[in-house]
Amino acid sequence: MHDLVIRNGTIVDGTGRARFTGDVAIDDGRLSAVGDVPGRGRREIDAKDRVVAPGWVDIHTHYDGQVTWDPMMTPSSWHGVTTVVMGNCGVGFAPVRPGQEDFLIELMEGVEDIPGTALHEGIDWQWEPLPQYLDALEKMPRVLDVAAQVPHCSIRAYVLGDRAHDLEVNDREIVEMAQLTQDALRAGAFGFTTSRTVLHRSKHGLVPGTYSKPEELLALGRTLGKVGRGVFEMVADSLGGGGDAEWIGQFCRETRRPITFALAQTPNDPTGYRTTLERASEMENAGEHLVPQVPCRPTGMLYGLQSSFHPLIAHPTYQRLAHLPLAERVARLRDPETRAGLLSEKAQIQDPVALGLLSNWSQIFPLGDPPDYEPPREASAAATAEREGRAPEAVVLDWMLERDGTQLLFAPLLNYVDCDFEALREMMLHPRSLLGLSDGGAHCGLICDAGMPTFLLTYWVRDRTRGPRIPLEQAVRLQTGNTARVYGLEDRGVLAVGKRADLNVIDLDAMHLHAPEMVFDLPASGRRLVQRADGYVATVVGGEVTFEHGEPTGRLPGKLVRAGAGAAR
Ligand SMILES: [Zn+2]
Repeated sequence: MHDLVIRNGTIVDGTGRARFTGDVAIDDGRLSAVGDVPGRGRREIDAKDRVVAPGWVDIHTHYDGQVTWDPMMTPSSWHGVTTVVMGNCGVGFAPVRPGQEDFLIELMEGVEDIPGTALHEGIDWQWEPLPQYLDALEKMPRVLDVAAQVPHCSIRAYVLGDRAHDLEVNDREIVEMAQLTQDALRAGAFGFTTSRTVLHRSKHGLVPGTYSKPEELLALGRTLGKVGRGVFEMVADSLGGGGDAEWIGQFCRETRRPITFALAQTPNDPTGYRTTLERASEMENAGEHLVPQVPCRPTGMLYGLQSSFHPLIAHPTYQRLAHLPLAERVARLRDPETRAGLLSEKAQIQDPVALGLLSNWSQIFPLGDPPDYEPPREASAAATAEREGRAPEAVVLDWMLERDGTQLLFAPLLNYVDCDFEALREMMLHPRSLLGLSDGGAHCGLICDAGMPTFLLTYWVRDRTRGPRIPLEQAVRLQTGNTARVYGLEDRGVLAVGKRADLNVIDLDAMHLHAPEMVFDLPASGRRLVQRADGYVATVVGGEVTFEHGEPTGRLPGKLVRAGAGAAR
């Protein structure tokens, strides 16, 4: 008698091979048979006409704080994610010295837009070096598996103290930072992460390490080579080229470890991403692993009356109303006189970058419900305003007042230069690229991409009409077998005997991605955008059913995953 049998499903096993009809048996938290299971299960799930796939492995999240207080790990867990990798982009909460907690919170708040008050109230600091953080995480039950990485900012703060932002570091300090990194990797961290973008700032300016010199990055990166596992992750402006190309090349040659960074189609160089993809292919031929990381929809912001940013937020009339509860604000904004006053004003904002963003009318669209992430050019605020002979400000105001003021506007920053997904598709399907950048747990007031795994199925596999779709087998592999393999999560990501029993049973026809919505459920009533989904018949983690038809079962089988421990069993 098996612990659990999933019967008669359409098995898409995460390797990319063609789907087949069959059963899956689970015993002791592992897959004990895939294909034909003659024996019965203590419990059986009928998966006829349902897709059975590995649990999603999301390698780019920022749950480092939430993981310490929220066993449910939403919104990712609502979307069939069974493993998350945290500690990306150089920010995290370990190592930490007593007294530095506020500083690390300010970095996370500045870079990832997670309410500082929520982090203050939520985190119970029971650790200093990163191995102690891992031990603390290991003691907490939760609904899915978590994996940590070593954040450069925290390493710098720990070793350099008040000088965390300094460019100059001495040899002794570099050795100390490398030792800490190596100890953390040996304790089970899955990688080392850093930020090299001018976009990641806190109230202290650019985050620590943004301009760190090659010798520092190489010294820390070499620890991955010494330990023989782990990924170097960074967020960078240069797409892995520019001034970084040289040390990245050296890192890859010396360590043979993968380095991954966000790749995007940018408005000022719409075809530049191809150069990076070509370079990744060339390097792979030499046994070096440059891994461009790409999302499955444009990286963009969600403007709305409840968001932290929208096109009218700096208008004096709006600012006078900004403190009002939503319903009252909506009523006032509908008042003809208030509206006329508001629309006669200009945004009181000096920063040209911010001003450019909030008046980028040709890249602002109503998201709608169900949400449309690939709207045509004609749907933009600019095109609508021109067609209707109105000011774009008036158009976006009307949009934001829809759905009782909860309508969100989609403002793609990257990957939407041509107002379609063709550049994205080229990047996603490139053999060297890695699907990521959901930023789960982060950007609470402006972005909500933790539901991208669901979007990959509903839109790319099933619904897309504006261009080619992606075959189911390939889509599943992109967020299971592929992500798990690059991160060395060898015990998961495919449905094969002996692998950890993490999987999803999916009703693909009924699958539905809801519009994102703002909720106020973080500690200290902090706000965050969340997005829900239908169609997950069951999600299984470590052999236990964690969600059934969208409802949590109360089981919390999730574990801390340690790199190098028990993999490939
Ligand atoms: Zn990130």
